[in-house]
Amino acid sequence: MTAAALARVLGPRLTITLVESSEIGIVGVGEATIPAIAQYNRLVKIDEDEFLRSTQGTFKLGIEFVDWYQKGQAYMHAFGPVGRDLAYIPFHHYWLKERALRDQAGAGSLWDYSFNWLAAKQARFARVSSVPETPLAGLLWAYHFDASLYAAYLSRLSQGLGVRRIEGKIAAVLQQGDGDVRALRLEDGREIAGELFIDCTGFRGLLIEQALETGYEDWSHWLPCDRALAVPSARTTPLLPYTRSTALEAGWQWRIPLQHRTGNGHVYSSAHTSDARAQELLLANLEGEPLAEPRPIRFVTGRRKLFWNRNVVCMGLASGFLEPLESTSIHLIQVCIQRLILLFPHHGDNEERRREFNRSAAAEYEYIRDFIILHYHANDRRGDPFWDACRHMSIPDSLRQRIELFREMAGIFCAPDDLFQLTSWLQVLWGQGVRPRATHPFVEAVAPHDREGYLRDLRRLLAHAAQQLPAHADFIAKNCAAGAP
Ligand SMILES: Cc1cc2nc3c(=O)[nH]c(=O)nc-3n(C[C@H](O)[C@H](O)[C@H](O)COP(=O)(O)OP(=O)(O)OC[C@H]3O[C@@H](n4cnc5c(N)ncnc54)[C@H](O)[C@@H]3O)c2cc1C
Repeated sequence: MTAAALARVLGPRLTITLVESSEIGIVGVGEATIPAIAQYNRLVKIDEDEFLRSTQGTFKLGIEFVDWYQKGQAYMHAFGPVGRDLAYIPFHHYWLKERALRDQAGAGSLWDYSFNWLAAKQARFARVSSVPETPLAGLLWAYHFDASLYAAYLSRLSQGLGVRRIEGKIAAVLQQGDGDVRALRLEDGREIAGELFIDCTGFRGLLIEQALETGYEDWSHWLPCDRALAVPSARTTPLLPYTRSTALEAGWQWRIPLQHRTGNGHVYSSAHTSDARAQELLLANLEGEPLAEPRPIRFVTGRRKLFWNRNVVCMGLASGFLEPLESTSIHLIQVCIQRLILLFPHHGDNEERRREFNRSAAAEYEYIRDFIILHYHANDRRGDPFWDACRHMSIPDSLRQRIELFREMAGIFCAPDDLFQLTSWLQVLWGQGVRPRATHPFVEAVAPHDREGYLRDLRRLLAHAAQQLPAHADFIAKNCAAGAP
């Protein structure tokens, strides 16, 4: 991703060399994304249909969280809007008021106002930018894809843009007297010199950590899962346009539908369960036949203390790890690339650029961290030691304040460039059982009869529009079906 984007934007001004080892390979998971990936694909000029064909990809309208708040309960973090705001006041205040005054069924569920949810639950999809004949937004989507095929696709694309690819294993990182990296030495003795080094070596962090000893901020006291087992299984029907995340006794399991198979994995805390038990649960919860042996992965949640240290910038797993609950890792790479392009060290002193790069990357990581912790902390799965510990743990102040503001007056405030905006927080807060004590008094300005009619019309329009959409599987078969693997 980094090589392709730099080559596309800064290409003729730079000589880019990509070193990778097919013997070591890539981590090979990372199959679910968020809508912002479309910006990256546009930047490197990837056609959506061709991309989905090349990666066995499917469309993703959100993430369903099953058994997270309580066993037997499910909700979705659907992309796109929920309802429609009125006169400065976010939609959910009107819905909450209606719900408080009338019986709950009368106001409908929060998700009856999400076009993405309505389409997702019926396994439907089409590229619609608005609900026909209304000012309501259409669907907002991301993708599921085969990570190895995406990597291969981008590698070909980068080389087409002039990136030189060197196959080989890095044996040593050579530093100058002042500590900057001067060159990489490969196992066969070749040396690759450079001015700026981008460390994409995964969890190893060969340059940023092993050579520069940058340090790591460990967040496992808030996010205690430290292992995963990943396994593909046979495709099942219908082809769902969403990721499913199911809470298990000491972690959770993902289910990611692709064209040719389903990706699955169990993320768990080794302090609360054994590898054998984790594997047993993973396999018991598969919907199709397993297609391989489960593959173990270990990690420590947290972030590198600096993302740009000396003349090394780290990307991806080399920069830190937030578990894939909200499919944010690939996105973090893409914003990091964007940040690097904006702050690229063309000439002269880099100190302020470096400072800004590190400040904004850390803020981004921390923002996403809080959102992920919310899923774990606000649970009501009493009696499961793992979930009890998550419920009782102390949480970052930034998250505690958010939860309290929502409890106090249904308030959710986000900066314009925050990754997760109001509707994301709303769905997860509500889905995880956090309940506000009051709504904004201004909603009283709308007469109850008008409010009720407004909500009813919204529900009706969205439900009708969702029923008109084609099946997700049919849309893919018509527009972007991959060949047999
Ligand atoms: C369990 C799990 C599930 C995930 N799910 C998601 C998800 O759903 N959505 C999402 O957005 N992200 C997800 N991620 C994160 C995602 O997988 C990564 O962000 C993404 O794959 C990028 O990985 P990477 O390139 O940083 O590391 P890697 O894929 O590990 O790549 C490291 C590269 O460095 C090379 N290398 C390493 N050492 C050497 C050496 N000595 N010499 C030469 N080359 C070397 C390797 O050959 C490889 O090419 C998940 C991660 C995990 C662990």
